[in-house]
Amino acid sequence: MKIEDGVELARFTTLGTGGPARAFARPESEREVEELLRWAQERSLAVAVVGLGSNLLAADEGVDALVLKLGGELATVEPGRDALRLGGGAANAVALHRARAAGLGGFEFACAIPGTIGGGVWMNAGAYGGDFAGVLERALVATADGSGWLTPAELGLSYRHSDLGHGQVVLRAELRLRPRPPEEIKVEVRELNARRKEAQPTNRRTFGSVFKNPEHELSAGRLLEACKLKGHRIGGAQISPKHANFIENAEAATTADALALMAEARRRARERFGVVLEHEVEFLGDLELPEV
Ligand SMILES: Cc1cc2nc3c(=O)[nH]c(=O)nc-3n(C[C@H](O)[C@H](O)[C@H](O)COP(=O)(O)OP(=O)(O)OC[C@H]3O[C@@H](n4cnc5c(N)ncnc54)[C@H](O)[C@@H]3O)c2cc1C
Repeated sequence: MKIEDGVELARFTTLGTGGPARAFARPESEREVEELLRWAQERSLAVAVVGLGSNLLAADEGVDALVLKLGGELATVEPGRDALRLGGGAANAVALHRARAAGLGGFEFACAIPGTIGGGVWMNAGAYGGDFAGVLERALVATADGSGWLTPAELGLSYRHSDLGHGQVVLRAELRLRPRPPEEIKVEVRELNARRKEAQPTNRRTFGSVFKNPEHELSAGRLLEACKLKGHRIGGAQISPKHANFIENAEAATTADALALMAEARRRARERFGVVLEHEVEFLGDLELPEV
């Protein structure tokens, strides 16, 4: 199994930022993941996975970990009679395409979530009233001590959260779906994508929602819009002029630029509304936001 060093994570994040990983590998089977987890354990090295990097901010200075990108057998999609069996590295878009072709409905909510199955389980990703917790039957999770199947309850799935930690790798997942005519799926996906295009930046480099929606009558996006943050720029990163809960890579942005924007957004939301925003985007490496 080839282990590389100096691989720039900017290549693997949708924002296009992030420095080198201390070690990087592309396992294609359960056995390879287990070998890599043991390799890291012997060196006391942390392990993290990148899916499509669509919810990731990786430190500019780099990440002191073994970073895995799943492929091969770990990115397959197999439709069954009322289920999809998937590798953790399979892209949601491919999974949805195969589900539609097989006449399986229930995964339409993921049509505009540009991630992988592993990243979706990790975050309990969701949209339009659906989420992974609602369709996941079980997930096979590997650690350096072995692998085991976990149910949504055992994974601790809640709003944009699981209890998974770095060092736990989602190898496979099974989604419980229901028969639905492909044409109906197609129509719903078209509608959802049109709604998305209307409200959010869709052709920009972003990492999706920056902050979770707080317990407040206004969503994170509306709070930040009221704080006059739309279009606010630091370095090469800017708050989307279209939706204030998105940060775009406007021009050669760095992770530090995005982090500075997040700090400013939290400061203003606290000052104006007394709300402490919690970030939805995952941090990789030595990244921290100042207290507000
Ligand atoms: C334009 C845009 C729109 C978006 N819209 C939505 C939305 O509507 N709803 C929503 O919930 N999210 C949304 N997102 C965010 C993102 O797409 C989701 O959170 C997605 O599930 C992340 O998956 P990923 O594979 O890209 O994970 P990554 O961003 O690569 O990683 C995210 C976290 O998951 C971990 N991880 C990834 N794969 C594995 C694995 N196999 N095993 C263990 N850990 C793993 C990573 O280590 C990291 O901690 C959006 C993002 C973009 C860019």
